[in-house]
Amino acid sequence: MDRYKSILLFGAPGAGKGTQGKVLGTIPGFYHCACGDVFRNLNIKSELGSIFYEYSSRGELVPDEVTVKMWAENIKAHAVIGDYKPSKDLLLLDGIPRTIEQAKLMDDYINVLSVVHLTCNDEEEMIERLRRRALKSNRHDDADTKVIRHRWEVYERETAPVLQHYPKEMVVDIDSLNSPAQVLHDILDHVVPAQNTHFANFVDD
Ligand code: AMP
Repeated sequence: MDRYKSILLFGAPGAGKGTQGKVLGTIPGFYHCACGDVFRNLNIKSELGSIFYEYSSRGELVPDEVTVKMWAENIKAHAVIGDYKPSKDLLLLDGIPRTIEQAKLMDDYINVLSVVHLTCNDEEEMIERLRRRALKSNRHDDADTKVIRHRWEVYERETAPVLQHYPKEMVVDIDSLNSPAQVLHDILDHVVPAQNTHFANFVDD
């Protein structure tokens, strides 16, 4: 199998990965896949749905093997349905991989072209963003400040080290505290060349 050509949207909870990923995903040639959304779409009464609820309501990560297996099955299903076209679309991965172990497991599936790291040095602003989002979108994990703070700790401990799994020159830091349009502009500056190269090498099948 050819590995999926991918761009990773990376950053702490509240940095704006989902907001930016959704906008970018509307551009032809990009396919946005948010791991948290895949989990949230599960039936909560299913085995996996209840595992997700158990971990996410504590602000913890779902175990690695279960997560990567679910993600791999989900993305394959989208390729079969045809809304994601691996030969044409760059995959924008949002919220996965989130641990070094996930990054290693996913090396079999994805060919990472670049890593967009949405940085933020203002934890209180991020927590405020997450609280506002929780009110709008009914997210159980962001309604409680204690759980949000724990999500941040988990990010620092488990997820931030994932950046070291990829070559330094592949990672670009973008300040997520700028306006959403500025952040989008900065991301495009970085991903458009990757998409141009992809299109230049694209063979219609
Ligand atoms: P998110 O919507 O990306 O903030 O994810 C919400 C919750 O889903 C997380 O706090 C985790 O419990 C779970 N989750 C999402 N992506 C992953 C992942 N890659 N690995 C483990 N758990 C995840």
